[in-house]
Amino acid sequence: MVTRLSADTFDVVIIGGGINGAAIARDAAMRSLRVALVDKGDFAGATSSRSSKLIHGGLRYLPQGHLKMVHNALRERERLRHLTAPHLVRPIQFLMPFFRGRRPGRLAIVAGLTLYDVMALTPKPERHHLLSASRVQEIEPRLRVNEMTGGVTYHDGTGDDARITLENVLDAAYHGAAVVNYAAVEDFERSGSSLNAVAVRDLENGTLVNVRARRIVNAAGPWADDLRRMDDAGCAAGIRLTKGVHLVIEFERLPVRNALVLTDHHGRIVFVMPYGRYVLVGTTDTDFNGDRYMVTADRDDLEYLLAVVGDALHEVALTAGDVVASFAGLRALPRLATNARPSSVPREEVILESPSGLITVAGGKLTTHRRIAQQVVDLICKRLSLPIQKSPTLTVPLPGARAIVEDDPASTKLPSETRRLLNERYGTRATLVAAVAAQDADLINPLIDGCSTIRAEVIFAIRYEMARSVGDFLVRRTSMTWKAPLDALASAPIVARLMARELRWGPAHEMSEVNQFKKLSESVHGIIR
Ligand code: FAD
Repeated sequence: MVTRLSADTFDVVIIGGGINGAAIARDAAMRSLRVALVDKGDFAGATSSRSSKLIHGGLRYLPQGHLKMVHNALRERERLRHLTAPHLVRPIQFLMPFFRGRRPGRLAIVAGLTLYDVMALTPKPERHHLLSASRVQEIEPRLRVNEMTGGVTYHDGTGDDARITLENVLDAAYHGAAVVNYAAVEDFERSGSSLNAVAVRDLENGTLVNVRARRIVNAAGPWADDLRRMDDAGCAAGIRLTKGVHLVIEFERLPVRNALVLTDHHGRIVFVMPYGRYVLVGTTDTDFNGDRYMVTADRDDLEYLLAVVGDALHEVALTAGDVVASFAGLRALPRLATNARPSSVPREEVILESPSGLITVAGGKLTTHRRIAQQVVDLICKRLSLPIQKSPTLTVPLPGARAIVEDDPASTKLPSETRRLLNERYGTRATLVAAVAAQDADLINPLIDGCSTIRAEVIFAIRYEMARSVGDFLVRRTSMTWKAPLDALASAPIVARLMARELRWGPAHEMSEVNQFKKLSESVHGIIR
């Protein structure tokens, strides 16, 4: 695919393999455009692996009157859950307690949830349910009783953000796109006033390739303005960055029975979600002007989140020492540029067109990625004077949700619990992992004792999912860094050994991979053994 970058002329080159770029590449490739997608790091290496993992309508936008936006997001949630990605998106039931004097008030929440259920056509068993204070106490005994007036349960969706992104990338490739990670766009080339090529640095060998394209899409997330300035040094800022932090806390230290929606004194929502052997708490929302490669949770973030939890739950005295890991992402919030036509600026995401023809996509939500991509590809088709077809992404499932017809003798040889876990992560593509495992008895073993990830997954990630580093595997292909932070750290040497064998790394490269992963774990993810 690297060779194709310089050999072909593409209809569209997409810069950035986060969820937006990945979904645009998939949609465009499925509509038979010639597509290239490049990312300077790993796919989903930035914001798209650091979200709250919710596939949701966004309950909090209802009181602000953004009904259409919530309606669209709920439709996308339902599509992902039932049709296009049921292996990656699952229902989650939240319990939201009401405390006297807290905003949003009981009435506003119940009105919002009623609308939410109507918009999502929620089936009866999943509709919101009002509870008395004593019932809330019964199902979540650690919630403080003082000032509690009752609560409500409701359903939403949760998913694996990085794998949803990756499956979009893979599907783009299945439909003919050239997709390359660790390939950074360093410059644009133009013919007259229009862009017609990008200079891409292959970060694995340092070579610079010229990629010719009729249209260029900038889906660079937090770096979107850098790309816009590379095109037009004088252009006004299009985005504003805010940081959102999540904490990973050992379940024994925060033994909640339910996923909770808590609020702070200003009515801001904080989620508390059981996450394997851990509990995820997040998020924050603060302006960010720092180093975009080193986005971390600082002391204020920790104190804020632990205070919200401590305020709602009694007998839970958490300190910074209880935080096993953390992760932080940057929201690229739209800042309207003066040259943007209002009609091309939807309520949430921003789609900007520069005079050079560069199309920039910023903001939006993981949940609405398919819809954002559809709008961008419609625009590309319009600019290329191609007919605008109905997007196949409306109905075609992601790769792991497609039915398989072949017999699968390899899977039946795996223990049933391993099969279940592989199905949960890879959907129907789990059969490919089983086929890899069948080649070598050692590959059926877990990475380390007690860990649920098997060694075959490392080989599979290299051969079928473009994993190039230990972090690619432990952070994004499996989310082990968030779901089992200490196991991830302890598994790094074996992952590096397996990768070294498959990718023919020398001993120095293997050791540097382990060291780099450890450094990343400590500095960015706050994992300390
Ligand atoms: P990114 O994922 O940041 O991707 C941009 C990519 O561009 C990066 O991979 C980067 O390496 C690449 N790039 C940059 N410059 C270059 C270059 N020069 N050359 C090549 N590549 C380049 N949404 C939900 O629906 N549900 C949630 O629960 C939710 N929670 C969130 C919580 C937080 C804390 C945050 C920050 C966001 C959350 N979101 C959520 C929103 C969602 O995560 C984002 O909208 C989405 O991930 C943005 O994706 P993106 O593709 O625009 O950006």
